[in-house]
Amino acid sequence: MTTAIATAAGTRPWPGLIQAYRPHLPVSERTPIVTLHEGNTPLVPAPGLSRCIDPAGRVQVLLKFDGANPTGSFKDRGMTMAMSKALEEGKRAVVCASTGNTSASAAAYAARAGMQCVVLIPKGNIALGKLSQAMLYGAEVFEVEGNFDDCLRLVVEMGESLPVEIVNSINPYRIQGQKTAAFEIIDQLGGEPPDFQFMPVGNAGNITAYWLGYSEAAADGRVSRRPVMCGFQAAGANPIVRGAPVEKPETIATAIRIGNPASWKQAVAARDESGGIIEDVTDEEILEQYKWTARTEGLIAEPASLAGVAGLVKVAKRGFFEARLSGRSPSHPLRIVCILTGHGLKDPERAIKCATAPTTVPADLKEVAKRLRLG
Ligand SMILES: *Cc1c(COP(=O)(O)O)cnc(C)c1O
Repeated sequence: MTTAIATAAGTRPWPGLIQAYRPHLPVSERTPIVTLHEGNTPLVPAPGLSRCIDPAGRVQVLLKFDGANPTGSFKDRGMTMAMSKALEEGKRAVVCASTGNTSASAAAYAARAGMQCVVLIPKGNIALGKLSQAMLYGAEVFEVEGNFDDCLRLVVEMGESLPVEIVNSINPYRIQGQKTAAFEIIDQLGGEPPDFQFMPVGNAGNITAYWLGYSEAAADGRVSRRPVMCGFQAAGANPIVRGAPVEKPETIATAIRIGNPASWKQAVAARDESGGIIEDVTDEEILEQYKWTARTEGLIAEPASLAGVAGLVKVAKRGFFEARLSGRSPSHPLRIVCILTGHGLKDPERAIKCATAPTTVPADLKEVAKRLRLG
């Protein structure tokens, strides 16, 4: 992390999100802060996507690149809080169920805190990068013969009967840490919230956390309004859209392959209080944006992250923003933030499956030139 905060006295390095937003978080002088200096991730303008949504330039889309966190996903925001509080409470071991990123994050922060970490993941359904992280950070990894929902049920049972702290998003401190992303976006937009926010929804902790962050900022008078929240599930794992749990969720976006979200009610509340939507997108729509965003904006995120972007493109096509564009201009655009929740390098197998394979050539200029497609 090289980012520095400008202050009257000059600059100081980013201290991690607990120190940066301490007055808004449930920590005290007694809380030992476990941090990898997470947060302060870039909010990157996406000119290609903006033009795609409105060729007249009345829309500005920005991508919150949370894959830039230390373990490559937004899960670090919650984990710095959960691990600090577990340590404060004298816990020696943590446990979590995970579709991959929570386990990577828990394992890293447990290593930093000197705690034991146990992770339960669904066998065969987690991206290689995430599994390799949990292993390398030194967690005890159990591959459960079942899906994520089975893992989470097991973790809850472990929490009731064993001396371990649960660090899934049902841990209230996770949501507290994650809400800081909303504060950052407001800061990065010069003290204004966006008009709309688009994001993926899996276990629904993140949409809950963002809504809490925006709501607290509004209650404190730091902002005068809150964004319209638009969440997207995968079509094969869409319990909130259906209004019923999905027994066997299926999607290539493994981070949102969840059939019975823990924060279901809170997600619905965020949608309804903000006048937003929770809909779904197909795997084909997700993969199209996965490639398009990489090639057009130069940013890679894991497939689940692109559910929000795919949702944005989909609703824009049906005229979702039309009524809201009157009075807008390129100098006063409608601002839409999409959350890129996890880094594209997490899932190299998917990237290789989607993209053009390299061409093998002899080490000879003529041969390379012959195969080159310039211009
Ligand atoms: C965890 C995760 C999600 C889903 O977030 P929820 O809080 O479970 O809704 C989306 N994308 C990525 C990359 C994740 O790791």
